[in-house]
Amino acid sequence: MKNYLRHLECSSCNEVYPYEIPQNVCHSCGKPLFARYTLGQLADTWRPEHLQSRPPSLWRYRELLPVCDDNIVSLGETMTPLIHAKKLGDQLGLPKLWIKDESRLPTGSFKARGLAMAVSKAKELGISKLAIPSAGNAATALSVYAACAGIPAHIFMPTDTPAFNRETCRLSGANVTLIDGLITDAGKIVAERKTDEGWFNVSTLKEPYRVEGKKTMGFELAEQLGWKLPDVIIYPTGGGTGIVGMWKGFAELEAIGWIGKKRPRFIAVQATGCAPIVKAWEEEKPAAEPWQDAQTIASGLRVPQAIGDFLILDAIRKSNGAAVAVTDNAIGQAMQLLPTAEGILTCPEGAATVAALKPLIANGIIKPTEQVVLFNTGGYQA
Ligand SMILES: *Cc1c(COP(=O)(O)O)cnc(C)c1O
Repeated sequence: MKNYLRHLECSSCNEVYPYEIPQNVCHSCGKPLFARYTLGQLADTWRPEHLQSRPPSLWRYRELLPVCDDNIVSLGETMTPLIHAKKLGDQLGLPKLWIKDESRLPTGSFKARGLAMAVSKAKELGISKLAIPSAGNAATALSVYAACAGIPAHIFMPTDTPAFNRETCRLSGANVTLIDGLITDAGKIVAERKTDEGWFNVSTLKEPYRVEGKKTMGFELAEQLGWKLPDVIIYPTGGGTGIVGMWKGFAELEAIGWIGKKRPRFIAVQATGCAPIVKAWEEEKPAAEPWQDAQTIASGLRVPQAIGDFLILDAIRKSNGAAVAVTDNAIGQAMQLLPTAEGILTCPEGAATVAALKPLIANGIIKPTEQVVLFNTGGYQA
């Protein structure tokens, strides 16, 4: 299959880089690189009808993905269901409430989308060693995709990362180092050692293709809603790659004429114990300050500093969205709400979006008639 990738472009200063060699961040300004495609050509030739005969997996959007078919490393990245949360919606006075349930993906979280893409691209580029700092699920996803591709993986994560993540990395043969610190400390170690060790850093948004995998959440959502977007997306935000990816993906869909100008309002949910994006949004700052003493039961949200902070904040502001923080206590309560009302088990991060609903409705940020989509980014893990 023909590849429509054109080049990589800095998301901040627009400097252009070739995609034929491994790239991390912009050499000039250190910001994330985005894959750019020949969208004009795709607009002339690619139609939604072409998807009909394709399997229900994220690879159905391959024209807007960076990998050649031969190099795809796949564990069966199924399209995830968009579930009408009718009972919970009725309880909250929000009849058009939907949940995109990402827990069905390989390794039990939506991190599979990004790492399927990054590992496939690493295989295509002949990369021989991968390294990642992770708060949990990204490590699990990298470990199994790297094992499947036969590429050694070096994992750096906090000592108090959930046991599920530590064990799955070990079981899939990754080299695991536990760090007495946070994901940002793990990131520093990877950055310091990668040149000597010959590792390619697949830290989120410091590698250009994980975000390409995550944008497929937005493609699926658009397709499932008949190429119309909902009024509101509520997303549990750590590194923010999901928001940044969907925002980018929607722009691409508009450029090829599949959707119109309307965008959902993006609402980022963080934990009160680690809410750098919420703070920056409230203070109307273009970027976030590092959060001190980050603490929350939602390990995926325990990201004190995100390299894509300015991109997350941009998507929230341009979409007329918002950013809110919820307590661990509220997250714990919400973890019961969704299973009892809808039979959907959630991770703490997914539960955070449920916890945010009540205050968002009470503050009038969400109106009762609106169509709202929550992202349950992963399944429950003991
Ligand atoms: C990583 C993670 C998040 C945060 O995702 P970003 O797109 O990086 O903001 C949310 N939920 C779960 C379950 C995660 O593993």
